[in-house]
Amino acid sequence: MEHFDIVIVGSGHGGAQAAIALRQNGHEGSVLIVSRDRNPPYERPPLSKEYLAGEKPFERIQIRPEQFWADKDIELRLGRNVNEVDPVARELGLSDDTRITYRKLIWAAGGDARRMSCPGSDNAGIHYVRTRRDVDTLKEELAAGAKRAVIVGAGYIGLEAAAVLRKLDCQVTVVEVLDRVLARVAGPELSDFYAAYHREQGVDLRLSTAVETITGENGRVTGVMTDSGETIACDVIIAGIGIVPSVGPLIAAGAAGSNGVDVDAYGRTTLDNIYAIGDCASHANPYADNKVIRLESVQNANDMATIAAKAIMGDKQAYDAVPWFWSNQYDLRLQTVGISIGYDATVLRGDPADKKFSVVYLREGVVIALDCVNNTKDYVQGRKLVMARAEVDPEVLADSAVPLKDML
Ligand code: FAD
Repeated sequence: MEHFDIVIVGSGHGGAQAAIALRQNGHEGSVLIVSRDRNPPYERPPLSKEYLAGEKPFERIQIRPEQFWADKDIELRLGRNVNEVDPVARELGLSDDTRITYRKLIWAAGGDARRMSCPGSDNAGIHYVRTRRDVDTLKEELAAGAKRAVIVGAGYIGLEAAAVLRKLDCQVTVVEVLDRVLARVAGPELSDFYAAYHREQGVDLRLSTAVETITGENGRVTGVMTDSGETIACDVIIAGIGIVPSVGPLIAAGAAGSNGVDVDAYGRTTLDNIYAIGDCASHANPYADNKVIRLESVQNANDMATIAAKAIMGDKQAYDAVPWFWSNQYDLRLQTVGISIGYDATVLRGDPADKKFSVVYLREGVVIALDCVNNTKDYVQGRKLVMARAEVDPEVLADSAVPLKDML
């Protein structure tokens, strides 16, 4: 049986960065990345942005040029699933019927797009935006003449896809079951602004609306029937309704976890010699009042990867990175810092009508997060307020003429 010193499961942001960080920190033993994806490591954010829009080819969204992995002696085994983990024998069972052993395992398997489950969900023409393959298939259908799209879910991915499809001159309807867009991640000020902006750009946005049935003909979607009884005709459906953490084999092996897999501040799961990082890892986050959460962001995947690689190298540093995120829609660049969970007050800086403003989130008078639209200055300076857990008078915060750096 083949043995590797460190095996990483998953070739996304977390898996790739874990391998990079191991080498950067002087790890000389063998490193293997096993991944279900058939492509060398690539960035996911462009999948709902420039890659979907056709503005960036695949080569430009690779995390490193292909040669890099060989140069660093990082072996990639792609197109293979890890189906089984035996934590006692430190052995993995792969979908190609091979078995490999490890000294340390880093589980960076992210999540799979949550699938539509209503009647009619087996029709062709329903798309997800999680992998290069998903987006290539969607692009092929758009190129073949699909012009009317229904997007299910008004989270970041659904809204980014809506913005790209409008740019491609498609007719776009967004159906969201909650009463505002971005409801899980942002306050009403931001939601209202984005809802209005999408409508201005010609998106037909249906809030508080659920999809009941997907209608089809000859095995292909023809429309979406909502709970109001209306059928919205379409050629394609794009579902952006969240992910299901890919942790089955770890949980089956006995790892603790109910929302992904539980890890401590160094990325260690409850199983010996097994770390987990990125989208699949539930951890107590210092920027969320130490609540146990999963973050789905490049920042979190990269920073957890570095923490786990360092811990393996004997340099234990507890995870304490400030969360940040971005989203591009039309000519709007949103940058967020901190985690707004549990906020009890918001302060608006600037005027949304100028397409340049920030929403500051406070909990018990402390700045915990900012959402900044076309406002990089507030984002950069606000980050310091979040990191300092600064207490700032809301009236002072609201004065956009005063730079945030003066409030530290
Ligand atoms: P992933 O990147 O999901 O990688 C998981 C890997 O594991 C994949 O390669 C998968 O094939 C593999 N895998 C899964 N199960 C197995 C198994 N059993 N065996 C072998 N391999 C397996 N974040 C931002 O910060 N900003 C953005 O603007 C942004 N936009 C996004 C847009 C889209 C369309 C998507 C999908 C995500 C976006 N994100 C964004 C989120 C960000 O991409 C993720 O948080 C990040 O990719 C998580 O990295 P990860 O390594 O944890 O998981």
